[in-house]
Amino acid sequence: MKLTVNSAAEMNKIGAAIALTTKPHDLLLLKGDLGAGKTTLTQGIGRTLGIKRPVKSPTFTIVREYREARLPLFHMDFYRLENDDLSSIDLNSYLAEPGLVVIEWPQVIKAQLPEYALQLTIRRVDDQWDSTKRTVEFEVQGERAKQWLADILVQLKSIS
Ligand code: ADP
Ligand code: MG
Repeated sequence: MKLTVNSAAEMNKIGAAIALTTKPHDLLLLKGDLGAGKTTLTQGIGRTLGIKRPVKSPTFTIVREYREARLPLFHMDFYRLENDDLSSIDLNSYLAEPGLVVIEWPQVIKAQLPEYALQLTIRRVDDQWDSTKRTVEFEVQGERAKQWLADILVQLKSIS
């Protein structure tokens, strides 16, 4: 399942649809090159969850926690993670909390990921460096992710 997105604002809308349909313990994996729009999407999620402060890239901190909204958001970015840092992140304890876990660069911790997730791959489709066009590919693992994606698509219809 693949969507075409024409602007950062449209990417934020996908984030909004994700926020409106997420349930406690959901896991969202975001793949895509640097600058694809993973953090931009997560900012859309945060805003619609009701987080007032800006959702910033967790590249240097690895994890950022937002506990002030409808449900907690745990935003992670493993791009800069060194092998020996892996043990310092207790992914399971975040997954055990009734919140939403969003992971940029999940490839890095593949072995530690559970068997369920909604995975999005964001790709640039134009050669121009400043093009705002992207595709977002959705892949589901497990029954919950299947239902979540169905709910997201319904939401997207009603907010666009
Ligand atoms: P990543 O987290 O994948 O490295 P970011 O979200 O930090 O990427 O950066 C994406 C950049 O591209 C932002 O400056 C954003 O405004 C811009 N952008 C342009 N078009 C889009 C789009 N369609 N979707 C997401 N971001 C876009
Ligand atoms: Mg990012």
